[in-house]
Amino acid sequence: MNVLLTGGLGYIGSHTAVVLSHLGNQITLYDNLSNSTEIVAKNIEKICGQKINFVKGDVRNTETLKHVLTSFKIDSVIHFAGSKSVAESVKEPIEYYDNNVQSTISLLCAMRLAQVKSLVFSSSATVYGDPLYLPFDEQHPTNPISPYGRSKLHIEEMLADVAASDSEWCIACLRYFNPVGAHDSGLIGENPKGIPSNLMPYIAQVASGLREVLNVFGNDYPTRDGTGVRDYVHVMDIADGHAAALTYLRKHPSWQSINLGTGQGYSVLEIIDAFEVASGKSIPFRVVPRRAGDIAEFYSSTIIAQRELKWKASRDLINMCASTWKFQTQLTKS
Ligand code: NAD
Ligand code: UDP
Repeated sequence: MNVLLTGGLGYIGSHTAVVLSHLGNQITLYDNLSNSTEIVAKNIEKICGQKINFVKGDVRNTETLKHVLTSFKIDSVIHFAGSKSVAESVKEPIEYYDNNVQSTISLLCAMRLAQVKSLVFSSSATVYGDPLYLPFDEQHPTNPISPYGRSKLHIEEMLADVAASDSEWCIACLRYFNPVGAHDSGLIGENPKGIPSNLMPYIAQVASGLREVLNVFGNDYPTRDGTGVRDYVHVMDIADGHAAALTYLRKHPSWQSINLGTGQGYSVLEIIDAFEVASGKSIPFRVVPRRAGDIAEFYSSTIIAQRELKWKASRDLINMCASTWKFQTQLTKS
């Protein structure tokens, strides 16, 4: 299959590129490099042992996208490109709606022009908002609490309307929980620009000495040790989930939202412990006040992903931490 990955040089896109390429797909990566670099393309080629198509471009440029879709004879698109910081979205909602919602409209227009109607979209567990019950299943009401989360929900709703209007469309919205970890080679991983806002890359930078101390945002939550609990899922498992979704879409036209998580939550203190074991480094931390907008605890139901995609996460927490650490040490060396 010929697959276009928008945002294909980013964290999740690059790992998915490796998985799809190993499965024999022809992949084309389309990225404006706003949050990545061309070195990632070189490292994907090293891992896959073959040349990869990369086109530098913005998803909001419908004409270029249409040209790419037709000239590379694309069968399916995975749409990773977008902006992903909750805090930034509160400060810059217009930019977020532009780069998430507007860019998806541009992609849909290009796909319609090129007659490509198979799409996997990167959604997020943030569409659920505060849990009314746990685990979050796909029936849980959606009530996102940030412009970022609302942009994801608006896109999902838009995609449902598109699928309802034309039965040839096949669309899967994958709601990721907390992707972490890196490819076993240590060549690709999560490398945020500036100060990391997510827990795992922050811990990795503390372990490598780039940052002095981890701030633990609150230890007075109603959780088993008072710190926030999340469903961390290995990025290679997430990548496998995309391959499963593409297979699923070949047999199931229409629209569906599916959670990608492990079903297991870990607290911040448990993540620190696991990282210390995996890296052999100690992680100094201090408890600071809660971060605004944080939810105490959430994790995923895995029933729909197992039933529909035949997908289940298989990599454990130590693997998530060890692969993050391997990537971080190679980054620090280079
Ligand atoms: P990332 O920032 O590492 O990757 C996104 C890529 O898209 C980057 O390479 C960036 O340069 C590119 N990009 C951004 N805007 C673009 C545009 N207009 N045109 C072309 N390229 C553009 O992010 P990621 O962690 O790989 O996330 C991928 C997707 O998954 C995002 O849509 C994100 O919202 C979603 N998601 C991520 C997480 C997470 O924790 N990483 C969780 C849930 C959902
Ligand atoms: N967290 C923390 N210190 C940090 C970053 C995150 O204590 O520097 C906590 C955060 O409060 C949450 C968990 O770690 O309980 C996961 O946060 P992350 O930002 O990685 O994911 P999200 O909150 O978006 O699910």
